Amino acid sequence: MNEKTLLTRRSFVTCSFAAISSCALAGPFALSALALPAQDIHGQIFKNDAPDKLWKWSHEGFLYRKLAGDKVMCGICPNHCILDKGDRSVCRSKVNMNGKLYTLAYGNPCSLNVDPVEKKPLFHFKPGTRVFSLATTGCNFRCLNCQNWEISQARPEDVRHYDLFPDGVVKEAISSQTQSIAYTYSEATTYFEYMIDIARLAKENGLFNLYISNGYINQEPLLELVKVLDGANINLKSFSDDVYRKLNGGRLNPVLETFKTLHEKKVHFEITNLVVPGYNDNEKLVNAMCDWILENLGPDHPLHFLRFFPQYKLDRLAPTPVSTLDTFRDIAMKKGLHYVYLGNVPNHEGNHTCCHQCGKRIVERKGYYISRFDITSGACSYCKTVIPGVW
Ligand code: SF4
Repeated sequence: MNEKTLLTRRSFVTCSFAAISSCALAGPFALSALALPAQDIHGQIFKNDAPDKLWKWSHEGFLYRKLAGDKVMCGICPNHCILDKGDRSVCRSKVNMNGKLYTLAYGNPCSLNVDPVEKKPLFHFKPGTRVFSLATTGCNFRCLNCQNWEISQARPEDVRHYDLFPDGVVKEAISSQTQSIAYTYSEATTYFEYMIDIARLAKENGLFNLYISNGYINQEPLLELVKVLDGANINLKSFSDDVYRKLNGGRLNPVLETFKTLHEKKVHFEITNLVVPGYNDNEKLVNAMCDWILENLGPDHPLHFLRFFPQYKLDRLAPTPVSTLDTFRDIAMKKGLHYVYLGNVPNHEGNHTCCHQCGKRIVERKGYYISRFDITSGACSYCKTVIPGVW
């Protein structure tokens, strides 16, 4: 049987596991990161890199404009790729063939797993539940520290992939006894057409949709997505446009707009900030970030500071000192954010949830396992204060 069609439960769990969870440690090495030149991926498309023929997984783009001379412009993310005939996009997933924009990522995920929801990380969304998680190749960023670069920086044709159209995804999610589908690992925005079709069908079938993303998406597709979205974790890479350009190849403002829209539309979301030494481990930035969150989003969206470990192009940079993360957590909590967590730091106070009103520990976590849960009907079991989240 063809490998692409052989889709077993075991293959779901094991496929690309190494790519997703690998966290190899290399020797620490001080690097003057901010001295590195800015990289700007805007407009860096791949000339004449489209395949010769459309394939089974080619699907016309959801949102694009035809321009003069058979050019097309994608409207999904702020990169606004303009492609001549035969060109491939910044995210590597889209091509101009015969004057039309096609995604090559539709129906061919390269990663399928069942994960605990805590791994996303989502701590205030149905704790302890399992999530059917998928990704195709492709990303609209170029993060130097990417954990999943084997799939995020690859073309759909270049990795092993499955033959799984939206109805198949929903069936597999149900038969895997999961309550939610997460669009995750690489960058979900770049397989928007596939994601939105799955999400609509998932909703009809009573499943939750979770968007795990860098938040670099235009407003029009985002407004379409929020109609069927139940939760999100958006990675706020830093609170500096300069760092965004140097570390990620993106821009800050569109991400802030995404947060505002999700907040306005009342979608449950959590914020992740991976603290990378020499890039964004700066108290001034963290102060400014927390001020912005409080002013624009309020105190209730959980904030996760994650510890960096050497990865990809930053494999000689030292891990984030835990003392730095402690300081940032203190800053955020003193400013008034209600739920501030630390990730990639096992057995730390910052892994647990304490009621923001009475201070009692109400959710205790051991890794991804919930060992205590004292929330009753969405409220603290001790003082009855409503705890923000989807419980
Ligand atoms: S989604 Fe991909 S093709 Fe579309 S604008 Fe963004 S990077 Fe370009």
